[in-house]
Amino acid sequence: MFTSPHTIAIVLILGTTTCARGAELPIFDAHIHYNQDAWEAVPPKEAIALLRKAGLVRALVSSSSDDGTQKLYAEAPDLIIPELRPYRTSGETSTWVRDESIIVHVEERLKMYKYVALGEFHVSGAKADLPVVRRIVQLAKQHGLMLHAHSDADAVERMFRQDPEARIIWAHAGFEKPPRVRETMRRYKNLWVELSSRGDVAPNDHVAAEWLEMFLEFPDRFMVGTDTFTTERWNIVGSNASSVRKWLAELPVEVAEHIAYKNGESVLTAGFSERR
Ligand SMILES: [Zn+2]
Repeated sequence: MFTSPHTIAIVLILGTTTCARGAELPIFDAHIHYNQDAWEAVPPKEAIALLRKAGLVRALVSSSSDDGTQKLYAEAPDLIIPELRPYRTSGETSTWVRDESIIVHVEERLKMYKYVALGEFHVSGAKADLPVVRRIVQLAKQHGLMLHAHSDADAVERMFRQDPEARIIWAHAGFEKPPRVRETMRRYKNLWVELSSRGDVAPNDHVAAEWLEMFLEFPDRFMVGTDTFTTERWNIVGSNASSVRKWLAELPVEVAEHIAYKNGESVLTAGFSERR
């Protein structure tokens, strides 16, 4: 129903009338980190207050180390959806793919806590076929978890080749250009796209045409996020949610609601509550 050639014209007309609704949209933030360097500057209670003040209904959280995620989850189990980042420290983003001890660490954490996904992790191109990454893909399958990958399209395709049934959240749409994103989404139905740090989605707060077409083609497959990979970025959680609401207001209400929080709720929260 979202792909008819008339839809775009209708959207443009509806755009102005949906603004009021858009301003109140709850947000599911699918890209929050609570890394060790943030723990002192933004203590857990303060971090949770910040997320709530931004109007977030849920946050998908992964941290270096995972203790950060557990601190937030203990503080607000209604708000935090935990995923297991394989890194023990922030310095492991590029070395982990060749570090066998990561697997031992991940297996230990999986015994201790409940998660909805493995990630966010960084891997590009052929490195996705290295043994450590293959093992992560297998562990996700064994434990019924999603993968949250900061990866180019090539690495995403390699992970799907390893497990055609994998379910992948694609951080930043892999920083790939829209046509490649679209092509990859068409090919893999179990690929959900998260849009943090994608300034090209809504330059000057207006949705770009090529993204609008994708939102209408795949209204159930997009999520938004902040990506608090540095402590400073905790300051922009609120403003990021506001600017997201601004461009979502240009979409049909139903599509905006899905991207704002309903997709996260159905894909991430439903899977997690079964495990709680
Ligand atoms: Zn990140």
